[in-house]
Amino acid sequence: MDKVIKTDCCIVGAGPAGLMLGLLLARAGINVTILEKHEDFFRDFRGDTIHPSTLDVLDHLGMLDEVLQLPHQKAHRLHAEVDGRDVVLANFSKLPIKSKFIAFMPQWDFLNFLSDKANETGHFNLIMGAKACDLVQENNCVKGISFHKDGQLYEVRAPLTIAADGRNSTLRDKAGLEVESFGAPTDVLWMKVSHQREDPEQAMGHVGPKQGFVMIDRGEYWQCGYVIKKQSFEELKAQGIEHLRQLLAESAPFPIDRFDEIESFDQVHLLSVRIDRLKQWWKTGFLCIGDAAHAMSPIGGVGVNLAIQDAVAAANILAPKLFRGTVEASDLARVQKRRSFPTKATQKIQIMMRGKRRNQDKGQGDGRGAKSSGVMKKIGRMPWLAHVAGRLMGMGFRPERPDPIFCYNKQNSKTQEI
Ligand SMILES: Cc1cc2nc3c(=O)[nH]c(=O)nc-3n(C[C@H](O)[C@H](O)[C@H](O)COP(=O)(O)OP(=O)(O)OC[C@H]3O[C@@H](n4cnc5c(N)ncnc54)[C@H](O)[C@@H]3O)c2cc1C
Repeated sequence: MDKVIKTDCCIVGAGPAGLMLGLLLARAGINVTILEKHEDFFRDFRGDTIHPSTLDVLDHLGMLDEVLQLPHQKAHRLHAEVDGRDVVLANFSKLPIKSKFIAFMPQWDFLNFLSDKANETGHFNLIMGAKACDLVQENNCVKGISFHKDGQLYEVRAPLTIAADGRNSTLRDKAGLEVESFGAPTDVLWMKVSHQREDPEQAMGHVGPKQGFVMIDRGEYWQCGYVIKKQSFEELKAQGIEHLRQLLAESAPFPIDRFDEIESFDQVHLLSVRIDRLKQWWKTGFLCIGDAAHAMSPIGGVGVNLAIQDAVAAANILAPKLFRGTVEASDLARVQKRRSFPTKATQKIQIMMRGKRRNQDKGQGDGRGAKSSGVMKKIGRMPWLAHVAGRLMGMGFRPERPDPIFCYNKQNSKTQEI
């Protein structure tokens, strides 16, 4: 590998945001280099949800049928137990698109799919095991990045650098962009338990004395989320695995011995919940998207979807500019302007839903607080609200549609003139 790589657009981070943007730009004939610090896409308990509006993007790109050939489970509705009653919390059946469901699919399958599709374009260079460490800046303009691979230092130089390096973004710090944080009173523990024949049929969350437990049907197993007080994981660990098993059994509709499957804390993954966003997502030659621009709470499982929608908006606005080699600061500001409203509106709802701080002293999750259970009870009384919730969760605010320049179906099609 040359010590200095020149490309049209350098993207750091091959998560949903980075790969979708890379795929779209490469489809438009723009040479893209993506750096990913891991050697593969394998990551357990990351966002495994593909929301209807993301499925709609894939449909426009002519990839929906193919992506749905990958192993997945469909949720046409989301359920919760409210005061001992099964309530449909979100109903996707009236969405104005083909895919009226959330697809649960391991994120690594989805990422491999996107990168395979991008590779078909001949304009896509994904470098795995490459960790970006700093921005290359001249006169306060970003001109690229430096990265480490196999103990060597390299540089990528590009007219535009995109930080899609997730919620702990190194690059947004290096760019000196200011973060606004909205706190979060809870964390979530994720774990798997086996799916048995006698188990309830649908994915359920619990409200009332049993609230704070989420289960997602993943076929052979249940993906279970358990809400705890912020930063109480170490305390919980000190109390031992048996104590956690008992807490889980009190919340879950499974017999207690199901949790014997969780033999140690190695099987328990912590999601440190955060809600934050950048005040400004860009500086000249540089733009943040996805979690790097805004970390979302897990409420609604919308992180992946927002990351994808950011990527589509960025591609729609920036591809014609990159094609002509003239990306101005005002173009980057347009991307932020386009995506600011959906980010702020979604975060506002998440902050409203997370409830009050009343349970904090008990060491239990405030996510079980009054607000979210109040909303769920209301939906239980007025079932039409489940369609509103389905629309908000499934499509989000301001769903993006890829520009027709990205939407060809045939492999190896010639790049269209922009
Ligand atoms: C435990 C857990 C459970 C979650 N569950 C859900 C869910 O059910 N639904 C949902 O929608 N969202 C969920 N999320 C959030 C979701 O995963 C993110 O919102 C989404 O993946 C954001 O996509 P992204 O591309 O912006 O960032 P990421 O997916 O975080 O991707 C960033 C990429 O950048 C790479 N990277 C970071 N730093 C560097 C560097 N210096 N150099 C090179 N590469 C770098 C990382 O390795 C990573 O691959 C969950 C997150 C966690 C942690």
